[in-house]
Amino acid sequence: MITKIIQEEKIQKAKKYIERGDTFVIVTHMTPDGDAIGSSLGLFHFLSVYGKDNVSVVVPNDFPKFYKWMSGAKDVVIYEKYPDFSEQLIREADVIFCLDFNEPKRIGKLASFVVASDAKKVMIDHHLNPSEFCDVVISYSEMSSTSEMLFRFICRMGMFDLINKEGAECLYAGMMTDTGSFTYNSNKAEIYTIIGELIKKGIDKDEIYRRVSQVYSENRLRMMGYALYEKMKVNSEHHTALISLSLDELNHFHYVTGDTEGFVNMPLSIEGVTFSVFIRQDTDCVKISLRSVGDFPCNLFANRYFGGGGHKNASGGEYYGPLEEAVSIFERGLMEFNPNNFEEITKHE
Ligand code: 5GP
Ligand code: MN
Repeated sequence: MITKIIQEEKIQKAKKYIERGDTFVIVTHMTPDGDAIGSSLGLFHFLSVYGKDNVSVVVPNDFPKFYKWMSGAKDVVIYEKYPDFSEQLIREADVIFCLDFNEPKRIGKLASFVVASDAKKVMIDHHLNPSEFCDVVISYSEMSSTSEMLFRFICRMGMFDLINKEGAECLYAGMMTDTGSFTYNSNKAEIYTIIGELIKKGIDKDEIYRRVSQVYSENRLRMMGYALYEKMKVNSEHHTALISLSLDELNHFHYVTGDTEGFVNMPLSIEGVTFSVFIRQDTDCVKISLRSVGDFPCNLFANRYFGGGGHKNASGGEYYGPLEEAVSIFERGLMEFNPNNFEEITKHE
């Protein structure tokens, strides 16, 4: 038996939207990760089995190849490639599900269409501070992933039987990727009860791990070597590590989306490092990824210095300016807010 976390009233309201709606759009955040794609496609499969024929997943931009094995991934509509079609889908939707994000700005240019739409909107998410743009907000930050939330939501509607193997694979992939393959944020026993149920649906969890984590290119491995050998700066006084990569460096290794996935986690394997930051120059902005172990709230760091956010141990942000400036901001930030002195600072936040 899984604890009832989601309020009954929210379940019933969202269920009614599902029963009554004909046309559904599922949207998720920019630079979609495994949980974003896994939860979106998990919901897509559920709604399809339920009998809904008009269900589209719309994402702001493309996602890594290692999530494209998920059933339904090839039909995901990418706004950057098909802006007019994406807009039309959102305009015509009866119900919009907002998965794995807590505020409109996380979906970039899709935000204005989603906010303006007359559709019923349901947020299912696990980030702190959900903003009020949805009719139903199902958001619990203590949950390890949105995919876990989706599983709970479907079960609470009494429709566990409508989760098919394809949907179960997507939900498992989301739960696995948002917990670093169950190495962080994953101490709750019920996670494993849910995994047991997904295995009963016929998923091969070991194969899913291989499809996500063991399909990289030779170039990516060489870039990882370069990043660790040449670019990693360890600041032992502050228990911190930084890796930054410029566009030129990325191009040298023929970077494709997803190639730097996991880089930010690597320095945390150094004894004593509890805060790791990876700064990557992108074509239109600089992307910052932050990870911590223990109590250091890297989401507050992301918010304070880069206007971003996320979870206590995994967060991100963006910077619009040169890479060197982003690095300087990080270095200056570290002087005032670091794993040695955060308790004093966060007391006032
Ligand atoms: P990643 O480092 O994998 O891109 O992001 C880790 C987590 O940080 C994401 O799951 C998300 O919760 C959060 N995050 C990443 N980028 C941003 C951002 O630009 N703004 C906010 N508010 N959160 C972000
Ligand atoms: Mn997530």
